[in-house]
Order: sequence, then structure tokens, then C-alpha cells
Amino acid sequence: MTKQAPHGFPLLPLLDAGIPAVLLKLLQQEGVPTEPLTVGEARGTFVLFDSRRNRFPSGLTTGQIAIDVAAVCASEPALVWLEKHPGRSIRKLWQVGPWQAGEEVAVVDRRQLRERVVSELRAAIEAAGGVWMRTAAYPAPYQTAANFRFDHDAYVASDFDAVLEAIAGYEAMTSHFVCASTHEAYPETLARLRGLDVGSHGFRHHTYRTRRENVTNIAFGIARLVHHGLNPGGFAAPLGRYNVDLAAAVAELGISHTSEFAAAYDDLPFFAAVGDVVQLPIHPVCLGIVLEAAVAADDSELGRRAAEATAEHFIAVASEKHAAGLPIFLYGHPDGRLGRHPEILRRTLAAIDSLPQVWKVTLSEFQRWWRARAAAKWQLYRTTAGYEIRSVVTSPGYATAIEWTTTAGKAKFALSESGRTTIPIRPEFAPHMGVDRALPVGECPSRGVRSSLKRYLDWEFETPLDEIDTHEWRGWMKRTLRQIRRRPPRTTGAAR
Ligand SMILES: [Zn+2]
Repeated sequence: MTKQAPHGFPLLPLLDAGIPAVLLKLLQQEGVPTEPLTVGEARGTFVLFDSRRNRFPSGLTTGQIAIDVAAVCASEPALVWLEKHPGRSIRKLWQVGPWQAGEEVAVVDRRQLRERVVSELRAAIEAAGGVWMRTAAYPAPYQTAANFRFDHDAYVASDFDAVLEAIAGYEAMTSHFVCASTHEAYPETLARLRGLDVGSHGFRHHTYRTRRENVTNIAFGIARLVHHGLNPGGFAAPLGRYNVDLAAAVAELGISHTSEFAAAYDDLPFFAAVGDVVQLPIHPVCLGIVLEAAVAADDSELGRRAAEATAEHFIAVASEKHAAGLPIFLYGHPDGRLGRHPEILRRTLAAIDSLPQVWKVTLSEFQRWWRARAAAKWQLYRTTAGYEIRSVVTSPGYATAIEWTTTAGKAKFALSESGRTTIPIRPEFAPHMGVDRALPVGECPSRGVRSSLKRYLDWEFETPLDEIDTHEWRGWMKRTLRQIRRRPPRTTGAAR
């Protein structure tokens, strides 16, 4: 039998008496209201503390219950590891048709980590008489959101045309991240992106290792797109890479949102550790890596089979994410890939369109919502008949919903405009659904000495010799080696 929570104090927000920063971030990403215990007027029943770092919180009054998160944190070493190694990546494999397609993505699967941590904390709160409610991840009445992100790496006229034709009618659920160095020679092409959600994919197609080089590359990439009449919002790092210096550069430039699978994949968005930047994780499987796995020339029969398998993978992932209430954020490249197989897009977008209660959205719009969601403030009270939510601030411009999760499933309630929302004591819970197809089937732990050295030297052929930044010895070394080593022949569609 569960204990009866005391009356008077709200069951939510949870009060933070010094829990690890990553844990607090996971709770905020989840949408569970939290407030620091130190805030003068903060009132709540449950006070979270970490006995490994702090003593039992002092000054608690009758009716307040302290919950120790030490055991949860101790069982999840990734919580501490993540804080020290943001952007650390590893090659993971996904099963797509008969092939295993590989991509370098975040070592820690943040979504699974969050789900495990939340499930343990939820059990602790429930055992102490509380309930687990959060601000829903999407405005009412949606159960998920969908977007197809295009990374415009190189420009191939026929591929670009084929992609724009394939997305006709679905533009509102696409976002286009453009590499300026490869596109600025085609102003009429860039003009065709006006009116769409456009972001920067850097000037040069490379994610550098220093803040200084990233600032230069991103700022110049944005300036060139603006010069051509576009209004870029957001940035997607070339190759999906992420490092602390990239994060610092993005924060310094005041960029609203970014999307890198080395930071996170297949997860809800979250605020980056530095700056006011929303990270929008996507599903990291693209046609390019399936073609690589199939070793398929894009016009061969094998290429067609790889494209067919990719379309089926996308449709299955979309349907599973829809059931699980996770964002359907997919991605791909026009050049040499989707432009050669545009039927993948038509099929995937049509399949998503047929799913109920999907918010078809651009990434710029979704990050606006995510900020509004974070701004919502509400308290949950136990009443004699059930529960009552008193909202102090609702998400401006959006219909906010509250989601109640138990082991049995979840139930959703729209926040009333009046500021008071009543919730029955036993609502009908829809059962939880898992996501299987999105999970990797394996990983390759070792990168090899040669490839580690290349990464250490930030080895690449994108930056022209005379533009390599030699302020640091690594840059000097790179330039010296580049003088002796010629660029290998370029293959369209090889990069990400
Ligand atoms: Zn790219």
C-alpha cells in the first residue's frame, strides 16, 4: 500500500536540493517541473538530494519528504560520464534490410538513459505517495511531431530538382541545412529555398576542433546565405560531429538550435550545456550509409534495393516512434543520394502524413515550441476527488498538455485556459509502446590508430591550404601534411 501524500504542499514541482546537473537536465528534458529548494517561496512535497554530495537537506517542514537520488546515480555511471565527455562518439550499426549500416553517433543513448533514470525516480516518488506528471513533449492534440531534415552538402542540379519535386506539398515538415561554399555559385538555386525552413550546414563542410575555426566557418556560412536572400535559423554540424568547442562557437554566435547525432540521437530535444541552444536529435540512419553498406553505385540494381530497404526502414521507424510518442525526425542528402532515389521521400512523407495526430513541423518551429514548453510553470495538488493542476504560466502561443505516466501507461490532459485543470484519480491509461527498429544492433568499439590520429589532427581536405588556421600547432601540422598529400578524388554522396 502506498503512503498518503500530505495535503498542503503541491506534489509537483520536485524541489532540487543539489542533485547532479545532468540528472536535473534529464528531468527538465522529460518536462517534470523542478525548482531549486533555495528559492524563497518554493513549496513542494518531494525534495531530491544526493547523499553522496550533500547531507540530508536541512530546514524541511512537516509534510516534506526527502528522496535520495544517490542509488539511482550510482547505478547509472553514464550520468557522470556524459557531463565529462559531451560529443564522444562511436560507430554503431543499424539493420536496414539485409545490410548493417554504420554511423558515428553519441556513445551514450541519452533516451534510454533518461527512461531508466525516470523509471527509477518515478517508482521512488510513487512509493512516497506522489505521481509522475510532466509537460507533454508536443502541444495538444498531437502525439508526436515529424520533420525531414535535408543536409545540402554538394550541389547537383538534377538531384536538387528531384528532391524539391518529391517534397512538394510536404514542405512544412522539412528543414534545409545548406553548405554555403558548394551552393553560393548557384544563386537561382538558393532563391528556390526562400520560404522554406533554412539553416546553415557551415561554409566549408567540416566540423573543426577549435572554437575559433568553428566560429569562422559557421558565421561565414550564415553570412553567405543571408547575402543570397535567405534567413537561416539553426545549424547542423557537418558529419553530425559535436565537441565542446563547437558548442561554444554555436553559443557565442547566438544560434537558436542545432542538430548533431554525436551529441544525441533518437531522443527528445534538450538545451545544450552552454548557451541558450536547443539540440534537436534525429534518427541517424540516412540513405548514404545504407548505400555504403550495400557497396552500391547509386544507379545499380543493388542501389535500388538499398533505397527500397531505406524507405521501409524510415516507414517502420516513423510508425514505431509515432506509437512511442517520440519525434519522427529523419534526415538525408539530396546530392548523389535522395536526389537519385526521390521515391523514398514520397513514400516516407506520405506514410507519415497518414499517421494520426502528427505535428508536421519545421525544426525552427519545433525549437520555438521547446522554449515555450520549458517556460510553462504549474503545480500539482492532491484534492479529495483526484488532482488539480494550477498553472502559473502556460506555454505562450501553444496548447499545452500534461502527461501522467505510470507503469501501466500514460494519460494526457489539456491545460485549461482558466489556470485550473482537474484530473480524475483513476484516468484511462493508454499502454506504453516501445521503439525497436530505431535501436542499433551493434557497435564497433575501436576506431584504429590511423583513424584516431586523423581525428586528433582534425584531418580533412575541405579547407583550402591557405585558409587552414595555424594559430595552434595542430593546424600547422595539418597544413604541413596537406602540402605533401593531395586530396583524393571526390565521390558525390560520400560525406554527411
Ligand atoms: Zn553534410
